[in-house]
Amino acid sequence: MIRVSLTVLIFIYLFLFLAAIFGQWLWNDLRRKRRENRAVRHRLRCTICSCEFQDDTGELLPRCPRCGSLNERFRASTL
Ligand SMILES: [Zn+2]
Repeated sequence: MIRVSLTVLIFIYLFLFLAAIFGQWLWNDLRRKRRENRAVRHRLRCTICSCEFQDDTGELLPRCPRCGSLNERFRASTL
């Protein structure tokens, strides 16, 4: 039988408990970031009129629905 003192047992218990909470937090944070990236993947902002619009076509230069200018595809900032 393995002899373990009470303090070591408490330390092991707390360490495993905190490790589980930390792991769950990392997993949820990763899932949240993936979901946010998926939500804003096709969202664009026009550089001329600042209109935000959705473009699912996959064109290299999507056209703004409000002013008609061509926009480069770069990620819209999320605040
Ligand atoms: Zn525009």
